[in-house]
Order: sequence, then C-alpha cells, then structure tokens
Amino acid sequence: MNISSVISNGSKILKKNLISSSQLDSEILLAKIINKDRKYVLLNSNNKISKKDQNTFFKLIERRSLGNPVAYLTNKKFFWNSEYFVTNDTLIPRPDTELIVENSLRITKHKNKINILEIGVGSGCIILSILKERKNFYGTGIDISQKCLNISKINALKLKISSRIKFYKSDVDKFNLGKYDLIVSNPPYIKKFDLRYLERDIAKFEPRLALDGGLDGLSEIRKVIKKSSELIKKNGKFILEIGFDQKNKVINLLNREGFYINSTQKDLAYNDRCIVSTKI
Ligand code: GLN
Repeated sequence: MNISSVISNGSKILKKNLISSSQLDSEILLAKIINKDRKYVLLNSNNKISKKDQNTFFKLIERRSLGNPVAYLTNKKFFWNSEYFVTNDTLIPRPDTELIVENSLRITKHKNKINILEIGVGSGCIILSILKERKNFYGTGIDISQKCLNISKINALKLKISSRIKFYKSDVDKFNLGKYDLIVSNPPYIKKFDLRYLERDIAKFEPRLALDGGLDGLSEIRKVIKKSSELIKKNGKFILEIGFDQKNKVINLLNREGFYINSTQKDLAYNDRCIVSTKI
C-alpha cells in the first residue's frame, strides 16, 4: 500500500469511531511511524509503506480510535514557540495556557535577571517558553510528580535551558526555597465531580493529578496562592490559570493574601482563564 491509501484507510477507521479530525490525525500518525514530518507525507503520497510499518500504524490508529490523544501517541506537542516532549504523565500543553506566557513576557519586557518560580511544572512548557525568550531570566520548577520532573528536564535539555533552571520534587505546601520576582502556575482546578464530564480524550487519558481541584475545584489554587504569597518578593508578579467560573472566588482569595489584581484575561473560547496580580 502507498502512503495515500494507508492514510485514507486509517482515516476511515477513525471516522467510524467518531474522531472528528480523522484525516489530520491519520496523516500525523503515519508521519510518526515513518519518522518524517507531515509535509513529507503529503508530498510523497505514492511512496510504498512496508508491511511492518503498516502494522504499527494500524495499532496506533486503534489506540486513537479509543480516544488516546494524538500528542500521547506521537509524544509531541507544540506550545508557544517550541515542540515539547509529552507522555501521559503530564497534561497536554493547551493553547489557552499560552496566556500565562504572553502575560509573563509582556510584564517583564524591561526586566533583567529575574527569578521565576513555576508551581506544578508538568511538561515544563510554561516556564521553559518564558526562559527560552529571555536569555537572562532564571527559573525554578516544582512538581509533586517525579515523572513530570523527568519530562520537564528532558524538555529543558532539548531547548538548551538546563543551566538556567532547577527542578525540585515537592508538594506546594512544603516548598520554602528562595524569593521570586514572578510566580506562574496552572494548577489542577476542575471540580472532582465534574471530572467525569470532561471530553473523553481528557477524562480517560490525561492525568487526574493535574486536573483534580478537589470538591470545589479550588483546593490546589488555595494552596498555590498561600505559598506564592510567602515566596514572592514585594511588588512581585503572580500569574495564575483558573477555571471558567472561578474568577470572583480567586480574586477574593488573592486579595486576602495581599495581592492587587492587575488584569484578568479570557481564553480563545472567551472564558475567564488567567489572572495577573501583584504582591503589595
Ligand atoms: N484547562 C484544562 C481542561 O480543561 C484543565 C487544566 C487544569 O486543571 N489546570 O482540561
């Protein structure tokens, strides 16, 4: 079979299983199998695919049919300016989360040598995107999951940032190292009860640990705000991602810990998603 028929057969199977981006997913998965990019696959559609590669491809198609996200099957996701290594131990980087990067870069435009802390680094995509853009910024990333830290470290190496970032395995409550000019975080903020209503690809395949915000969705956010208030320098900035219905509650929590709200931002779906604040 040539590239074009393999892709079209894969796409038909995905479509039958109600995967909406069937054609694109099939192209990306075949590119992964033959170790090329999507462009190559599209420009060489008459090339033959070996029996062995076809078998591996259709195994991936089967996993995609069950809802396994493409990013976990290819171990790659593009975020901000770079491609990140991801596994199902980390959340898949989302375009909405680029708001944190965008705001961080905007408010530090004229800063030099600042120290940034990320609470819950996951794949590392937020803090590494910032450090990649600002060669004289330094980072610290903490996570409760050692597997996430290993992935963050791989991404730091890939992006040549390892010398400017340190990683620590720690619960947010227990971390007490340093003082920071900027703290960023995308903590778990989905209500425990709502986890089951997330899209299937998310609910079944992405790590609970990165999503579950406890009964009211705010358990981790509360801890992150409290800890940030201790670890941030006076006039330091704090940028937090929140759930679509959490803006007012989180603003109250921030005010109580001595943060002034600079702005709130909406995501691509026009939901409140990001709060920028200053410790006063
Ligand atoms: N935005 C993610 C989602 O909708 C949740 C991320 C999080 O809990 N931090 O699945």
